[in-house]
Amino acid sequence: MTSLFTRIINGEIPSHRVYEDELTYAFLDINPRAPGHAMVVSRTHSETLLDLPDEALAPLFEGVKTVTAVLERALAPDGFTIGINHGKASGQAVDHLHVHVIPRFTGDGGGSIHSVVSNPPKEALEEMAARIRKAQ
Ligand code: 5GP
Repeated sequence: MTSLFTRIINGEIPSHRVYEDELTYAFLDINPRAPGHAMVVSRTHSETLLDLPDEALAPLFEGVKTVTAVLERALAPDGFTIGINHGKASGQAVDHLHVHVIPRFTGDGGGSIHSVVSNPPKEALEEMAARIRKAQ
């Protein structure tokens, strides 16, 4: 079945577009967590970063940079939180990779990315790094 965001990209479902180019589309989140909360997606459908074709990576992140710059000009926020809910365990609800660009304003009451989870490892960092390096 065609993903929700592919249907948005194709114009089958309306959206509030803020940017588009040949490879990338960006639109306002229907349930914004901040003024200007936007999502940037690749026109190529993939569920996660791991199955996005390599050639789509740079265009997607160029889109993220452009949208961030446009939001900066339009809304003059004090900062941004930019992130991906990657996989169901992280809260990904839509199965089409999307990068949230959330304008942040001093005193907006939000936290940093560190406030998303607090599940420190039991292993020492040295052990953890070695285990991860082994998987390369
Ligand atoms: P996720 O948890 O997958 O990172 O976030 C999906 C986001 O998509 C949510 O923030 C939700 O508000 C947004 N969303 C879900 N359905 C629609 C829709 O039909 N249109 C728009 N513009 N945003 C949507």
